[in-house]
Amino acid sequence: MNVDKVQNLLTIFEAPEPEPINLVHLFLQELEKSEAPLDDRGINFLSNCAGVPVRNNRSKFLQASEAAPSIIGKELSTLRPILEETTLLSHNSTLKQQREQKIARLKWLAERLPEITEDGKTTRGIEMFCHHFDHPIVRNFLQLLSFDPALATLFGVHFFLFGVSLLKLGTQKHIDQYLDKADQLEIIGCCMFTEIGHGSSPLFETTATYNRERRGFVINTPSLTAQKCWIGGGARNATHGVLFAQLIIDGKEYGIHPFIVQLRGRNGVNKPGVTTTDLGPKMGLDGVDNGIIHFDHVFVPYDALLDHYCEINHEGQYIGRNGNRDSMSILYKLMVNFIFGRKYITMACTTGMAMISTLFYVYPPQCLSKKGWEFHLTNLLAEAFAFKYASDLIMGENAYNHFNASIMKALSSTANQKSLQLCQNLYDSNPMTRRIRALVNSYFADQAATLTYEGDNYLLYMLFMKHSLDQAKHWFQGMTKLRFNSYAQLFKWALSRKDPKYMILGEAFLLAKTIGAHLEPLKSNEERFKVFNKEFQLMGVKLGKLYGTFLILSEYEKAAKAETEKGHHHIWDLYAIYAWNQMQELLPERLGKRKGFWDKFLSGEKPDLMPRYDYIAKFHDELVAGFGFKLEGMIDNILEPPPQSVSFDTAESLESRIKNAKL
Ligand SMILES: Cc1cc2nc3c(=O)[nH]c(=O)nc-3n(C[C@H](O)[C@H](O)[C@H](O)COP(=O)(O)OP(=O)(O)OC[C@H]3O[C@@H](n4cnc5c(N)ncnc54)[C@H](O)[C@@H]3O)c2cc1C
Repeated sequence: MNVDKVQNLLTIFEAPEPEPINLVHLFLQELEKSEAPLDDRGINFLSNCAGVPVRNNRSKFLQASEAAPSIIGKELSTLRPILEETTLLSHNSTLKQQREQKIARLKWLAERLPEITEDGKTTRGIEMFCHHFDHPIVRNFLQLLSFDPALATLFGVHFFLFGVSLLKLGTQKHIDQYLDKADQLEIIGCCMFTEIGHGSSPLFETTATYNRERRGFVINTPSLTAQKCWIGGGARNATHGVLFAQLIIDGKEYGIHPFIVQLRGRNGVNKPGVTTTDLGPKMGLDGVDNGIIHFDHVFVPYDALLDHYCEINHEGQYIGRNGNRDSMSILYKLMVNFIFGRKYITMACTTGMAMISTLFYVYPPQCLSKKGWEFHLTNLLAEAFAFKYASDLIMGENAYNHFNASIMKALSSTANQKSLQLCQNLYDSNPMTRRIRALVNSYFADQAATLTYEGDNYLLYMLFMKHSLDQAKHWFQGMTKLRFNSYAQLFKWALSRKDPKYMILGEAFLLAKTIGAHLEPLKSNEERFKVFNKEFQLMGVKLGKLYGTFLILSEYEKAAKAETEKGHHHIWDLYAIYAWNQMQELLPERLGKRKGFWDKFLSGEKPDLMPRYDYIAKFHDELVAGFGFKLEGMIDNILEPPPQSVSFDTAESLESRIKNAKL
């Protein structure tokens, strides 16, 4: 018996479970230590602790990374100073440690925020985020920040949900009183929107009753279900918050209005009448202190009302302004404020998909054949590029398009989770890959809340469905002669366009037509609402997904055309693969089974789908390099794989290792 081999084998089986460290932190930890951003030690560290094989294609990768335009941005190195003064903690650290670390980082970051100077005027902090969200400096900064999901969440709550609400919903007196303090984190803000009984439908019970004599409001939580719940920062850190409550004047309800309310002093002691409960550990994002908040007749002065959209005069009269007509119209105005958070989640998830594709490229899961690995990598890349190219849907002229921000948030967070789930399946618990699996699991857990917060995805699909129905009216005007009554007609029409995205649009047509035909004859909104909820909810969600995907495909196609002109023909093939995957997911199965279905869409050099996968595989290096993660150093070191690692081509399965050990 070969004693050494048995010893080795035992070491593999007895190796302690790897400590799950945040995936991104691994990259960042190296970045922080290195003189040059992500030098050789990066890959050494990763491969040593993961003990997994890494592809050895250094020269190809280097060439490609020189040639490819940076997508996420070479500026990854700018993260270094951000992390300089931070210690990296694993997910095994205590809740308290994680929270302390995140809040320390937040404060540290606040002192080092980028600035933007335009027309001789310099803006920073909340004002910069509010007015220059689309500026490359801001986008880049936010993208980098998204590498730490808990920190990004705390940051988003304070700077966007609290800070931007202050700017957009308040008036000059609020800016004078709070803005500088919030920028410097002298006060820490939260956003008190959700109640235990009311999340997606904001029929909030919390009341703000106007008191004429004292010229102020009494904030009250009338029932258990009215308690503000899940509030990020609410358990411990937040000193102030923007509260959404039902305004009551002389017994009459005026709808949901925003108020700024102090929760606790800087010493952490709650203000009288405010009770907070810590929600404790969650499945992820433990660095964020989510809490429940209860108000017991807390008096706040008149200036607590964020009064951009209304005022209450000394006679107690409610006066709407800036387009505020009634309680519903003000609610929509307040909701529009969530646009920033939804855009940020989209950016973070797009970065997440790029990172996951890169990880998958560097560490092929052992269970896959080379072909299998190429197939999955191509799908991951096709999806990551889809959202990268569709970013114009939420930027520039679409910057304040609430519908686009909502559907992009829903589709990108779902796609990001799907990519992570694929990795969870493929990086099995083989000792060689379980480290990677642990990393993916922890990132997955941190990202899970993106499906829910800032608007539950299911509801966002429905919101977008409404927009799709409106759009459908325009489509139909120009298309009355087409009469899409059956799939056969639709199929013919879509085929005539020679572009798969029209198949998606066609299916959306049919759904919109069906829903519209049933709802339009109904007289009142109330009736429509009832019938919709009873009969058409699932169809509505599907319509939202279809039309959102059509918009993404349209942007993808534009980018593919532009890339083709530059000689990058493979982006067309990537587009075709993404389109195919979407069709498989969203269209009735029987359509895909029709003979020659796919060939007819993809006429040209490569009429079939599988050859496209082979073709794209030739560009994997270039495509991954295009994300801009600086992996050269990483790849370098893999020329000398660490002892426990094996190269891709010679990967030995665990099974054959056991056999070779001749037990
Ligand atoms: C980590 C985390 C942090 C958060 N931070 C904050 C914060 O800082 N401030 C804040 O105010 N909130 C915060 N939230 C709350 C978050 O915004 C809400 O969870 C979200 O809006 C959903 O509301 P809900 O939890 O009440 O779920 P519900 O609205 O009750 O939804 C539960 C389920 O029912 C479905 N559903 C709901 N309505 C309908 C309908 N009409 N038709 C069909 N299906 C429906 C939903 O799709 C979902 O699957 C946070 C949540 C999490 C998880």
